[in-house]
Amino acid sequence: MGRLVMKFGGTSVADIARIRNVARHVAREVNAGHEVAVVVSAMAGTTDRLVGWTREAAALHDAREYDAVVASGEQVTAGLTAIVLQEMGIPARSWQGWQVPLETDGMHGAARIMRINPVGIIERFAQGQVAVMAGFQGISTDGRITTLGRGGSDTSAVALAAALNARCDIYTDVDGVYTTDPRIVAKAQKIARISYEEMLEMASLGAKVLQTRSVELAMVYRVPLQVRSSFEAPDSPNQNTSDGGGPGTLVCDEEDIVEQQVVTGIAYSRDEGKVTVVRVPDRPGVSAAIFGPLADRGISVDMIVQNVSEDGLTDVTFTVPQKDLDRALKAIDESKDMIGYERIRSSQDVAKISVIGVGMRSHAGVAADMFKALAEKSINIQAITTSEIKVSVLIDAAYTELAVRTLHTTYDLDGE
Ligand code: ASP
Ligand code: MG
Repeated sequence: MGRLVMKFGGTSVADIARIRNVARHVAREVNAGHEVAVVVSAMAGTTDRLVGWTREAAALHDAREYDAVVASGEQVTAGLTAIVLQEMGIPARSWQGWQVPLETDGMHGAARIMRINPVGIIERFAQGQVAVMAGFQGISTDGRITTLGRGGSDTSAVALAAALNARCDIYTDVDGVYTTDPRIVAKAQKIARISYEEMLEMASLGAKVLQTRSVELAMVYRVPLQVRSSFEAPDSPNQNTSDGGGPGTLVCDEEDIVEQQVVTGIAYSRDEGKVTVVRVPDRPGVSAAIFGPLADRGISVDMIVQNVSEDGLTDVTFTVPQKDLDRALKAIDESKDMIGYERIRSSQDVAKISVIGVGMRSHAGVAADMFKALAEKSINIQAITTSEIKVSVLIDAAYTELAVRTLHTTYDLDGE
């Protein structure tokens, strides 16, 4: 039946009753003959609390000790899950990141996985044991505990699946990936299959089901990824996935998708900060003078618009993640002499709306349809970016819901 990695997020392991429910999902797959590795997050709310304590202890704290503290949430759930499985008669053992080992670089708080050696886990599979690995954490080359960044358990799970050559099922509190956020659009539909590339755009443009890096990793290693709900009854017949199909959303190769839509989904993000540098000289080197200092500070710039120049002066507008807005303004301010602008304007009342679909590669007019639909609702577009498979626009945040709903209809995504 092959190997399977089953990942459960924080809400799915929020208390002992839910961990029992998780164990029943695991039991089903074990009984179907799979060799199972389980990857767990911290119980809901735990990581936030741990992060809070590190801040309370010292606003500026040692990143190594931050990791020592916040990695503990997953240690608890891994142990509890193993206990509950054992109690159900299923042989199980917990594994901390360092015990696997899951080796990372030394970027504490946002470490990257370098290597996983699953030999120990595979030996235990041969003895009929389920492995329960603590997500989110690893060990650096100098032997310290590291964490992979918020939401990192998804990445732990995909990496382990790649190392084990396994399928990866991500169990969460929703039953799949939707055409857009169902809280905004009641007619949003569950997507049966979505390509890695589209999922990557959806995740990085605001859909919060999967950590972006986990999708990147799944794409590189071609790990079949399934997003599904842990809250559906573990023993109901439609939970059976031995045929490879499943009840959730399958993230897979483009070639494995038969009915490809032009637009697959709509994402939005209110996490944008907009900066306008007013009346800068329009001459070579000015963009470098603006964006160089931002790059030096590790601030990533997303959308950029430069107006046509009047009398040799122009305005440059760009967006950064909202958390970086203050630092960005400071950087521009500090380079005032070098850039030579008149003043800076900034706003947080903006939202980025994106339409995503690999079908755009072979279909003209997607962007035009988008602009027309927004215009009909009198929604002004402040900036635009495109890639091969997405178009994003920046609008006034007050119109976020209207824009998403309108576009969902425009691209025929509305369900019953
Ligand atoms: N517990 C960690 C977090 O909340 C990792 C995860 O849940 O994926 O970010
Ligand atoms: Mg998560």
